[in-house]
Amino acid sequence: MRILSNAGVTWRPCLPYRKSMTKSLIAGLLLATAAPVFAQASPAHIASLREAALKDDIAYEIVEGLTTEVGPRLAGTEAEARAREWAVRKLTAMGFANVRVETFDMPVWVRGEEKAWITAPFPQPLAVTALGNSGATPAEGIEAELIGFNSVDELAAAPDEAVRGKIVFIDHNMPRAQDGIGYGYFGRPRREGPTIASKKGAAAIVIRSIGTDHHRNPHTGVMTFADGAAPIPAGALSVPDAEQVQRILKRGKRVRLRLVLTPRNIGTRQSGNVIAEVPGRDRSAPPILVSGHLDSWDLGTGAIDDAAGVAIAATAAKRIMDAGQPLRTIRIVWFGAEEVGLFGGLDYRARHGKEPHYALVESDFGAGRVWRVDSRLGKEREAEAKALQQALAPLGIAPGALDKAEGSDISPLLADGLPGVSLAQDGTFYFDVHHTPDDTLDKVDPQDLRQNVAAWTTMLAVLSGGIEAEPKRLKRR
Ligand SMILES: [Zn+2]
Repeated sequence: MRILSNAGVTWRPCLPYRKSMTKSLIAGLLLATAAPVFAQASPAHIASLREAALKDDIAYEIVEGLTTEVGPRLAGTEAEARAREWAVRKLTAMGFANVRVETFDMPVWVRGEEKAWITAPFPQPLAVTALGNSGATPAEGIEAELIGFNSVDELAAAPDEAVRGKIVFIDHNMPRAQDGIGYGYFGRPRREGPTIASKKGAAAIVIRSIGTDHHRNPHTGVMTFADGAAPIPAGALSVPDAEQVQRILKRGKRVRLRLVLTPRNIGTRQSGNVIAEVPGRDRSAPPILVSGHLDSWDLGTGAIDDAAGVAIAATAAKRIMDAGQPLRTIRIVWFGAEEVGLFGGLDYRARHGKEPHYALVESDFGAGRVWRVDSRLGKEREAEAKALQQALAPLGIAPGALDKAEGSDISPLLADGLPGVSLAQDGTFYFDVHHTPDDTLDKVDPQDLRQNVAAWTTMLAVLSGGIEAEPKRLKRR
């Protein structure tokens, strides 16, 4: 489905009919064809909003508050429920309208004990963490021979007999990259490894963490056992520990590993999306959705993933709200349960996926500076997409693709064809701390966060259809 260029334009019956009839007809015809006409704040107004946002620390205060007063907030747990209450209080205090929670049920997995040791030939402990949805070992753990593979493909090609009853180890070579390109391909050991190992009869699997650092912090992350594969214990070793295992394996002796992972499935619990709005002057115009996710992994306090994202989205919306009333409604969504399987994004789609949206935008790639803008607004809105590129350039943001938009929670709606914008953040160091105990407030640079808010405010100033300091609506009787 494509959203039409004029989907946001409504005919105002209150306009003087005779005087503007001809003009309206011409305008209507233009809009119906390929009119590059769209309403936005003036370039001077956009520039002043952009500059003012660079001096503002509201976003940092949100990240500080959420990570300090709630801390880790694993989806479906009591901690995430506290995060929702915190979010409702915060968004209400910021002055947004229609603050509400849309709840949904989801299966919940919680971490248990996690330990690993090489028991032969060189006994020593290893730093390990369970991957989301990992199966459990008995309390006393399991011990088995370790068999190493350099990639998922190597594991897939191995005969089942070579793997059966053993603990699988998978390595990879994920590089640092500004756009985080390695996460897709080099993330395969986490996403695909456990299923393949299980189907080959492995006793358990440990992977090299999907990370680019050399700290002894293992990186967690979700995986699911697919195609009927039985759950087996599945963990990630820190990168230095994975390299240690490789060195030990290379010595050619039989290697044995003892593993204790005791996570549990605790059944169905409630999660929810927290929603707030800046009501537009034209209530019939499709809203602009700005978002991030409220839940985090349990190991850190989720500062870069994704307190920064929810803070950026809400702060930009507040800056527009404080400047006046936009034509279009800005809808803020702080999604629940992203990390463990996009439950929040899928619930939003189930409830609102049939409603038109003017643009979908999500911040979920840390707190690094925005360096590129991609969008997918449709051919008929190309002038708007180019105006957006121009308005963002003073912030050091390069124009990117006009046929691309992404975002984790919004991906189901983007897949349906709804329009979107991506303000790509510098992710060079994102996967150093992603999903580790090191995802904490000190990793957020307040200057970089300001630049993000300035970029998002600029985007909203361009897309929201013009901001009126004294909204006409309020003057009506
Ligand atoms: Zn995230």
